[in-house]
Amino acid sequence: MTTPTSFDQLASAILDGKPATEDDALAVLRAHDDELLDVVAAAGRLRRHFFGNTVKVNYLVNLKSGLCAENCNYCSQSLGSTADILKYKWLQTDEALEAAAAGLKGGATRVCMVSSGRGPTNKDIDRVTDMVGAIKAEHPAVEVCACLGLLKDGQAERLRDAGVDAYNHNINTAESHHDNIVQTHTYADRVDTVGKVKQAGMSPCSGLIAGLGESDEQLVEALFALRELESDSIPVNFLMPFDGTPYENTWELEPQRCVKILAMARFVCPDREVRIAGGREMHLRTLQGLALHVANSLFLGDYLTSEGQAAEADLELIRDNGFVVLGSEPAAPDVPLERDPAKRRRGAGTTVAPNA
Ligand code: SF4
Repeated sequence: MTTPTSFDQLASAILDGKPATEDDALAVLRAHDDELLDVVAAAGRLRRHFFGNTVKVNYLVNLKSGLCAENCNYCSQSLGSTADILKYKWLQTDEALEAAAAGLKGGATRVCMVSSGRGPTNKDIDRVTDMVGAIKAEHPAVEVCACLGLLKDGQAERLRDAGVDAYNHNINTAESHHDNIVQTHTYADRVDTVGKVKQAGMSPCSGLIAGLGESDEQLVEALFALRELESDSIPVNFLMPFDGTPYENTWELEPQRCVKILAMARFVCPDREVRIAGGREMHLRTLQGLALHVANSLFLGDYLTSEGQAAEADLELIRDNGFVVLGSEPAAPDVPLERDPAKRRRGAGTTVAPNA
């Protein structure tokens, strides 16, 4: 069994320039739950070395929801999904601007503009470049990431020229598992788009979804593929098994397992932005704070088709764990919150049922 000291030694070796091996990654993933704090402490050293106490806060704007003809089995927007989600066609530019402004007001520094579908038409690229121009004119400091699906030749360059800073296209899972989760496009299609993004000079953002029936080895395979692809930011999603999709009632993840997956990502890709993405609240639950000691990024508020916790709760999570939002003003001195403790009016000594 890997000892706690060896997680610390692993972090030291990585900081000395010796990358983690696949065996190291598997050892992190398979660490005993008793070793969780040792794993977090070691991964946290890497996190603080490269990112200090900052958390990058991103905000999702779903520009077009549902109505997709692809069959990604994990996705509530996919062909054949009967999940009861919002479905709408492209937002207008002013609607996208309004949605983005809400996230920026809430503390986000990056807006992720997402649309459902296999990939954009050239007319879709026109729409998005208009939106990006409007957002950047009003919020010059904002970073914009686009996530529009598989790109055709020339589209990445057009987005870059419009001011798009980054492009997200997740590999989602290991190549050896990919065809089990989607049949309408290939792993190679996905890698091709990440290549186009890099070629155009945008920052590649590509990550994965855990909990899709993959093995430990396949999770490791996916992470090493992302290292190879030189993804700048790595969203780690935890499957949200929507009713009405092939993965409904699939529950493979426990909070401690999720923290280990994030820690593995940190050990394998120590200087990359590791983002806790979809499924954070549902799967990490009360370990969200612990996970922030490993990951350095999250989404504020809601996801594409599901609700997240309130943005204020996200910011409180960051503050309470001793972190600051990247790009925010220095925090004002702590002012005690004026919160009168709720007086007990139930349970012992009353006729009202206790809350236990
Ligand atoms: S992940 Fe994207 S391409 Fe796949 S079904 Fe969902 S919206 Fe469509």
